[in-house]
Amino acid sequence: MQLVVATRNKHKLRELRALLSDLDFEVVSVSDLPNVPEVVEDQPTLRDNAIKKAVETARATGRLTLADDSGLEVDALGGAPGVMSAHYAGENASYHENNKKLLAALAGVPLEKRTARFRCVVAIADANGLVDTVEGVCNGLILTEERGGNGFGYDPLFLPDGQVKTFGELPAEIKNRISHRAKALQKAWAVLSRYARTRATQTTPTGRAG
Ligand code: IMP
Repeated sequence: MQLVVATRNKHKLRELRALLSDLDFEVVSVSDLPNVPEVVEDQPTLRDNAIKKAVETARATGRLTLADDSGLEVDALGGAPGVMSAHYAGENASYHENNKKLLAALAGVPLEKRTARFRCVVAIADANGLVDTVEGVCNGLILTEERGGNGFGYDPLFLPDGQVKTFGELPAEIKNRISHRAKALQKAWAVLSRYARTRATQTTPTGRAG
C-alpha cells in the first residue's frame, strides 16, 4: 500500500523516510505526485495544521496520507515561536535568521531558564477523512550560540535533555531515535499497522478493498 507524505521540506522528508523505512508501505512524497495543490498552513495550532495538510492531501491524491506539523516551544517566551516556528523572523525567513531572532529574544535569560521543547503532531488521513492524530515531544534547552551543522531549523541551538551535543551536532541516527518526530512516528507506526490490518480484513476474495 502507498503512503503519501505531505511535506515538501526535503530535510523533514529525509527524516520521515528514515523513520518509516521498516513499515510495509511504499512511501511517496507529495512533491513526486503531479497536480497536488499546496496546502496553506494557516491554522492556529500544530494539530489543526497537521490535520488540514493530511485531509486535503488525501482528498487530492485519493491515497493514505501522513502529514506532520512541528514547532519549538520556549518556556521563557510563553511557548513562542510555537506554530509560528517556520516564520518567526518573517514570512521568508531563513533558518539562521529565525535562530538569530530566538537568541535575541532570550538575551540575558540564564541557561536554567532556557527550557524548551520540540513538539510534533502527525495526522493520518485517507480519502474518507481523518484516521487519527498522534504527538511526540522532545524536551531540552536553548543554548546561547549555534553549535553544529547537522539537521535543520533550530537544531544547532537545541540541546536535548540527557545529551551533551545539540541536534545540530548529533548524527541523524541519534536524532532519529530521540526526537519529537521519532516519538510521534513510533505512535503513527501503530496507527498505520492497525489501518493496514483493518484494510486486509475488509479485502474481498477478488483482492479488492470492500
Ligand atoms: P513545519 O512542521 O514544517 O511547519 O515546521 C515548522 C518549523 O519548526 C521548521 O521550519 C523549523 O524551523 C522548526 N522545526 C520543526 N522540526 C524541527 C526539527 O526537528 N529541528 C529543528 N527545527 C524544527
